[in-house]
Amino acid sequence: MVADPGFVVRIPEAIYAEMVAHVLAGYPQEACGALGSVHGTVVKNYPTANVAEHPEDFSIISEQDIVRIFNDIDSYDGDMIYYHSHPITEAYPSARDIEWSRRSGYLYIIFSLQYHPEPPYARVFRISPEGDVTEGEIALFSPE
Ligand SMILES: [Zn+2]
Repeated sequence: MVADPGFVVRIPEAIYAEMVAHVLAGYPQEACGALGSVHGTVVKNYPTANVAEHPEDFSIISEQDIVRIFNDIDSYDGDMIYYHSHPITEAYPSARDIEWSRRSGYLYIIFSLQYHPEPPYARVFRISPEGDVTEGEIALFSPE
């Protein structure tokens, strides 16, 4: 086995600020959305409604939203990243998150509001089809 070299997701500061506003607006429930990225750099934010039956501890994007987002991301040949918030728990994939993401293959960005009203913090994870969790790095930048 070769050691995983890790990975980096680059997010423009303005988009990150939108994501933070979205998860704060959803608090105390989980909030969710998707990002479109090109070569590891996020280019677009798609905040969505959370249609989970129990939005206080899980998040699901509706089928219609997923199709719309997927088609848009496809138009610039990007990759989808899923993001959601944990209102109470740490920014680490729950057993259910692992179950869903190992099937979808998307990178997962998780915000935690466990220290609310302190600002939320975020971490990014890749989950293999076997359910192995690898943490990457979130790098914020301000485009010219
Ligand atoms: Zn979760």
